[in-house]
Amino acid sequence: MIKRSEDRKLNFGAGPASIPEEVLQEASEAILDYNASGLSVLEIPHRGKLFDNILDESKQLVRELCALSSDYEILWLHGGGRLQFSMIPMNFLGAGGAAYIDSGHWAQEAIAYAGYYGEPKVIASSAGERYASLPEWPASIDPSLSYLHFTTNNTIYGTQWPDIPLSPVPLIADMSSDMLSTQRSYSNSAMFYAVAQKNLGAAGTTLVVLHKDMLARTARRVPPMLNYEAQVRTNSVLNTPPVFAIYTALLMLRWTKRKGIDIIQKDNEKKASILYAEIDRNSLFAAVVDRPDHRSKMNVCFRAKNPENEQLFSDFCTQNNITGIDGHRTVGGFRVSLYNAITIQQVERLITLMQAFEDDHKKD
Ligand SMILES: *Cc1c(COP(=O)(O)O)cnc(C)c1O
Repeated sequence: MIKRSEDRKLNFGAGPASIPEEVLQEASEAILDYNASGLSVLEIPHRGKLFDNILDESKQLVRELCALSSDYEILWLHGGGRLQFSMIPMNFLGAGGAAYIDSGHWAQEAIAYAGYYGEPKVIASSAGERYASLPEWPASIDPSLSYLHFTTNNTIYGTQWPDIPLSPVPLIADMSSDMLSTQRSYSNSAMFYAVAQKNLGAAGTTLVVLHKDMLARTARRVPPMLNYEAQVRTNSVLNTPPVFAIYTALLMLRWTKRKGIDIIQKDNEKKASILYAEIDRNSLFAAVVDRPDHRSKMNVCFRAKNPENEQLFSDFCTQNNITGIDGHRTVGGFRVSLYNAITIQQVERLITLMQAFEDDHKKD
């Protein structure tokens, strides 16, 4: 039996992240009996009608929710974000070189992985501001580059690009932490990808979307499993795919469609604005990112002005059944992740606790 809402912890974790209860319910029913097939979803064959339908519907929903033309291929791959950091340069880093925009931790990881295949050019970086703001988008981009890679939302420092700019070279976007959180111009990117464990369900699969033109750009011999062209040709079933993670992503996509991206966007804006307003108002806390137009609506980072309050507030949240608010191990402080599954009421509950904490700890 699934735990009732009152017993469930309120999870503000950055990933694996909160999943709507109705999706957990549907996933657990499918584990026992998938669509009255007499088989668990964990047992269905990956080459057969049952899984074909899961794959087809999930791709159809991605196409619809991102408003993609049939020029885009949709893949579900293994291996998470870091495998994409590897596959992108492996497949596409050609003689023209590749450029990266460095907005923090994940961008840096992607840059480091590209270093195995060439010399990635970092053409914009906010390292000098300790990533508390977005770098300036480059004014001119060398048209001979193989691609330009950037991260739409910086999960660790809490910055987010408002939209996807146009680019004279193929743009590749890591959208892991803000996929389907807002209406945006997905087709400005030649390729984008998102690990499932933020807005698309369970860890174990990564959504990869790429324009057909990219497939002709493979720069070197790559083994089939790591080769986008081979993965497209075999419809993500080159080997046994992560069936359950893909099924959970399908449930999340259906949930996303039921709710509607416009409503999701509105709720996400509201959640972020009330939380930032409280951080800015509360005498005990300070936001990491000052510029309102750089602040992430998905990962809200802040600190206690008095470091002694950090552990106290963390413990206070734990006592109140809230989990996942500690900042990334490399930066500390707090990070509240407001992925699509988090409701406005849940954010209000946290705000009430921040106010109660202030009443107990402020110096008067
Ligand atoms: C969470 C996240 C990743 C995850 O990478 P894994 O290798 O799957 O752990 C990658 N990029 C971004 C922007 C993320 O937020």
